[in-house]
Formats: sequence, structure tokens, C-alpha cells
Amino acid sequence: MKTQQDVVTEPAAFGQDLQSRTLAVHSPALRAYLRVRQALWIYDFDTQRVVWANPPGLMVWRASSVDELAARPLGSDMSPGVDKRLRQYQRDLEAEPSRQFSELWTIYPQGAPVTLQIEFGGIVLDDGRMACLCQAEPAPMLDLDTLRSAEALLHTSVQITLYDDGGRPLYRNPAARTNAASRDQSIDQHLVLPEDQATLHEAMQTRGEHQMVALVQTARGRRWHDLTARRCLDAATGGQAWLVSETDVSAVKAAQRQAQRLAEHDPLTNLPNRNHVNTHFPAMLEEIRSIGRQAAMLFLDLDRFKHVNDSLGHEVGDRLLVEVARRLRHTLRAGDQVVRLSGDEFLILVSDDDVINHVRRLGLRLREAVSQVIRLGSTTVRVTPSLGVSLFPADGDDVATLMRNADMAMYRAKRLGGDQMAFYSADLAVEAGRRLTLESELLQAFEHGEFVVHYQPRLDASTRRVVGAEALVRWRHPTRGLVLPGEFIPICEDTGLILPLGRWVLEQAARQAARWHQRGHALTVSVNFSARQIQSQALVETMDEVLIDSGCPPQALEMEITESLLLGEDSATLGQLDALNRRGLRIAIDDFGTGYSNLAYLERFPLDCLKIDRSFVSQLETRPAIAELIISMCKVLELEIVAEGVETIGQLDWLRAQGCHHYQGFLSSPAVPAEHFETLLAPA
Ligand code: C2E
Ligand code: MG
Ligand code: MG
Repeated sequence: MKTQQDVVTEPAAFGQDLQSRTLAVHSPALRAYLRVRQALWIYDFDTQRVVWANPPGLMVWRASSVDELAARPLGSDMSPGVDKRLRQYQRDLEAEPSRQFSELWTIYPQGAPVTLQIEFGGIVLDDGRMACLCQAEPAPMLDLDTLRSAEALLHTSVQITLYDDGGRPLYRNPAARTNAASRDQSIDQHLVLPEDQATLHEAMQTRGEHQMVALVQTARGRRWHDLTARRCLDAATGGQAWLVSETDVSAVKAAQRQAQRLAEHDPLTNLPNRNHVNTHFPAMLEEIRSIGRQAAMLFLDLDRFKHVNDSLGHEVGDRLLVEVARRLRHTLRAGDQVVRLSGDEFLILVSDDDVINHVRRLGLRLREAVSQVIRLGSTTVRVTPSLGVSLFPADGDDVATLMRNADMAMYRAKRLGGDQMAFYSADLAVEAGRRLTLESELLQAFEHGEFVVHYQPRLDASTRRVVGAEALVRWRHPTRGLVLPGEFIPICEDTGLILPLGRWVLEQAARQAARWHQRGHALTVSVNFSARQIQSQALVETMDEVLIDSGCPPQALEMEITESLLLGEDSATLGQLDALNRRGLRIAIDDFGTGYSNLAYLERFPLDCLKIDRSFVSQLETRPAIAELIISMCKVLELEIVAEGVETIGQLDWLRAQGCHHYQGFLSSPAVPAEHFETLLAPA
């Protein structure tokens, strides 16, 4: 049996051994290696085996023969990191066979660690594949810490490069070598952006260290690296050097970009959102200022959008917004900004040399684009926009002021009836302040009991006897006198005060109805309900409580709702109305003809009564056709018909002739306090 000693002292045997193997190691240099004392071996990257070793090499590997060594599958316990690195060596050597690396490696012959300084070079096997010729020397005397740090340097995925003072590479660890775009890529060639190069040089000059996330050129193309650079001395020469360590943060960067996109975009319309305004508009305004241009901010809000949403449902509302967003984008120029702020509010920023004239034309185009009929499945909807404009820099120097002022102008457009554009002017601020005051005053008014309910009589068109009353709320203002609901109901709807106020009116009306019934007057008292009240889940419960507390018979109460509420497929609303109807409460449609006037729903809902809007009654003399149509339709549907706003005897005569059942209007009486109302009643 051959001992290990025998083997390593018989170089000739290895020569034969080598020749007997199919290796292209015919070079004289390699033959010479057989005799050198330095440990040598050839590593085949593909089979992951040492295919040849000289006697000192065998000794290092603790192998009894080349065959025994070649039989060892080195890949079986190789970490993926080491495997990857060796493959990188293979590619490096294939690209440049004369290349040499010298590194401190720890190998594990028979499981025991041996640290060596190994020089790697290329050698071509006879089948043409590139293998690695390894020349090992004992490692310099190193303590364990140094050894471990050298190992860490080799195995870490952190890319570490030592540059000389001129930025040329002196050393790269394997991870850096794998990533370097070329072998002698300098730090300046590595950094893509000139400003990053300048910043790094400057920081290294002044502070000797720097940390940055930079776009870099690598073997994998352009990547984002988190890069830390520090001045140091080159251990080999003692010269000034930079130690640069880098990790690839491209994935994090991409995730950040995605997160930023998400944070700055509205997922429904895919338009930028309010965050985008805060982040980017200030710089845009600065840019516009610096080139001496003017800009305009346009606040766009859809008229009656809440209506569409309430009546046709949120899904239809959403689709409408998507279509409006598409139209806005389509109408604007490439550099213009359009943002969805919230709900149906959009913000537009445009700049032009003659911005006022540009905005005037743009306003017309936007109104035309938005108000084209929108087809949403089986429904068609038409919405119009209200636009408010503030100019930069005339009406505001910063984003917040411009937005506030454009918003105020938009409210003016709304107040003037919507579907128009208003420019900001200083007096608007006074008006907006007034609205704010009004909001807080209303809350106080409710707490201080400043609201009162008046009753307008409803009369039989034939007998002209009072058959019912409509409860209409008023605000007894401490200084302004009686304020009518048109001025405060919309605000209460916006602020939510409508819920407690509506309940209070209902309680008053129910108590009053109960009182009249006790006195023998079988009057129907109608109460107006806002959409928010009808959609409140507590509606049925509230109604039950009010009926019990007041002792009012359900038949004596009528709920007035607007037709838009009935348009949607809102099964919850239908369910609530059904439940109330089953209790005996009457349901009337108010202001009929001013909304969608879609007849299909009239049959679907449990309705008792329809009130023809005042606007049709006032036009009876000139345009009676609509009132005629409504009345004949109600007859088919067997609904009670009430004409609102009857002011002349002529109107009443016409209505009676058509078969209209009841009427209200100044012809008989406006709304009056309950005590006064009783004087209008015939003795029971
Ligand atoms: P509405 O329900 O259509 O009420 C009829 C309105 O027409 C009342 O205005 C009434 O005073 C007015 N009116 C009655 N007859 C005539 C007439 O012959 N000529 C003219 N020009 N007007 C007439 P008011 O009291 O100012 O109420 C306005 C609206 O405010 C009401 O319209 C109703 O929608 C709402 N409202 C009133 N009270 C309440 C309430 O308690 N809750 C809710 N949600 N809305 C209410
Ligand atoms: Mg009404
Ligand atoms: Mg009405």
C-alpha cells in the first residue's frame, strides 16, 4: 500500500499520471510546475473537481493520489456563494486567459480548514474548456480575526473596492469583481451622474468619507448602489487610497418609486393626487416664475355629482369620475397638470404667456368636454362642471393660497348656478368667511333652539278646504329675523347638521299632527327629508321612536323625498321605504320634474303622492304641456297629485279642470306658525 509520503515524493509518477489523463497540460511551463515546491492544482469549474495536482498540491489536499483527489466531488459541500464566485472566475478567465487573481482562501481538505494565499490563473483543458490553475502559498502569519475578516471579504455580497488616490482600482473583492463593468473601471466611470462624481470627490477631500445612493454602471447595466467611501492607506504600498463598499439597492429603489407612485396617484382615475400637488407643484411654480411666465390654477367640481352618487350608486359615480378624468386629460395640453383632489374635485395647473385668455378658452373647452352625455351601461348621465380660477402670481404666491382662492372662485360659480367659470377676486374671501361663520352659527342656533317649524296648508283643489300641511323649517335669527331654508339647508346637508335638525323637524311635525288629530282635524302633515336622512340606517328606528313618542298615527305623516333618491338600484333605500310604507306612512315625491323624471322607478317604489314642481305651475299659461303630461301619468299610476306654488286663481282653475287633487301656494297661504295655521281650518 502506498503511503502518502511515497506518493508525494515521486514526481515522475505524477508526470505519468498527468499524461495518462486527458489534459492539455503539454506546456513546458506546466511540466516545470511538476518539479516546483509550490503546491499546484488544476480545478475544473464544470465538474467541480481538482483534476490534477503536483505533489505539494496533493499534500495540501491530503490526497493519496491524483485519482483519489479527482474522485472527490468538491461541489457537494460548496456554498452557493463560493460556487457562484468560481463560475465568475471561469468567465473572467475565459474573457482574459492571462488574468491572475491572488486571494486568501480557506479550503477544507478532509474537512480541516487550511488558509492559503492562492493565485488563480487560466489553463485550457484539452477539450477546450477553461480551467483554473491554482498556485498556493502558505498564508502570511495571520491572527484569527484577520483570517476571518479576509474570509468575510471573499464571501460577502457587499462589493468592496480599493481605489488609489486617482480613482483607479487596486483591488476588488469577488463580489465587486463580479459586478464591475470592466476590470479597470475607475470610480468616475463607475458613477453615472457627473454630480455624484463631484459630490464624492468633494466629500472625500473635505471629510474623508461619504455615503450616497448613486446610479452606477455595472456588468449588469445601470443599477442603484448604496455606496460608502472612506479614505484609508493601501496596506500594500502605504499610499493614499479609497475603500468603497457598495450594495445593490435597485430593488429597494424600484419599490420606493412604486410606493411613491402609489402615494401620489389616485388609483381610480390614475390621475396624480393631492400628495403630488404638495410634492411637485411648489417647484413647478418656481420654474414658471423663473422663466417669467404666468400660470393659472383651476379648481373644477362637478355640479350635482353627489346627486348622481346618491341616486345611481357609487359604482356609477366611480365610472363617471373615470370618464371625466379621461376627458380632462384629453382636453389639456401635454405640459398641463391635472390632479384629482378628492371626490369630484379636480385641480388643473396651466401656464401660458397670456394666461387669462388661455384660461378663458380652456374653460369653454373643459365645460364642453365634461358636459357631453356620458353613457354608463344602460344609464346615461350628464354632468356639468363649476370652475374657479386663481392666477399666479397675481392671486397668490404659493400653492396653498392659489388653491384656496381657486376653490373660493369655484364656489361662486356654483352659487351662480353651476356650469360656469368664475375668477377669483378679493371680495370672494369675504364671502367665504361669511359661509364659515354661518356654519358655526347654525350649530349654535340648533343648540340654542333658534329653529321653528311653519306650516303651509295643502288644499283640496275642488272644495278648497285644508286637507294637510307641509312642515317647513325656518331659522329665527337673533339679528336677521326669519331666515328661509334655501339659505341654510344645503349647508346643514354638507356639515351633517341635517340629521339632528331633520329629526327635530320630524318630532315637531309629528307632535303637531297628533295634536290636530286629537282635536278632530284629520290632516296629513308632510315633512321634507334630505337624502342623508333617507340613507341613514337609523331611519326606520327613528321613525318608530318619533311615532311612539308623539302618539301620531302613521297615516297622518307624509315623507317628502326627491326623485333623484329613487333612481339608483339602492336596495337598502327601497327596503327602508317599504318598511315605512308598511307601517302606514305616506311617501311623496317632491319637486317632480326638476330631476331625472324617469318614470320607470315610480312603479318600483311604494309611492302615494307626487308633487308637481312650482316651476311647471308658474308656466301653466304659456307651457302647460309638461304639467298635463305629469297629471295624466299620475292618473295611470293612481298617485295623488299636488301642485306646488299655486299663486293665481287661473292656475287653480286649470289644475282643477285637469283633475289635479290638491294644491299649495300663496294663493291660499304661505307657511305660517302652527297657531296661525289653525285659524285657516274650518271648525272640526
Ligand atoms: P319645498 O319642499 O318644495 O317647499 C316648498 C317651497 O315653496 C317653500 O319654500 C315654500 O315656502 C315655497 N312656496 C310655497 N308656495 C309658494 C308660492 O305660491 N310661490 C312661491 N314662490 N313659493 C312658494 P321654503 O320654505 O323656502 O323651503 C324651500 C325648500 O327647503 C323646500 O322646498 C324644501 O326642499 C326645503 N326644506 C324646508 N324645510 C325643510 C326641512 O325641514 N327639511 C329638509 N330636508 N328640507 C326642508
Ligand atoms: Mg317639500
Ligand atoms: Mg317642493
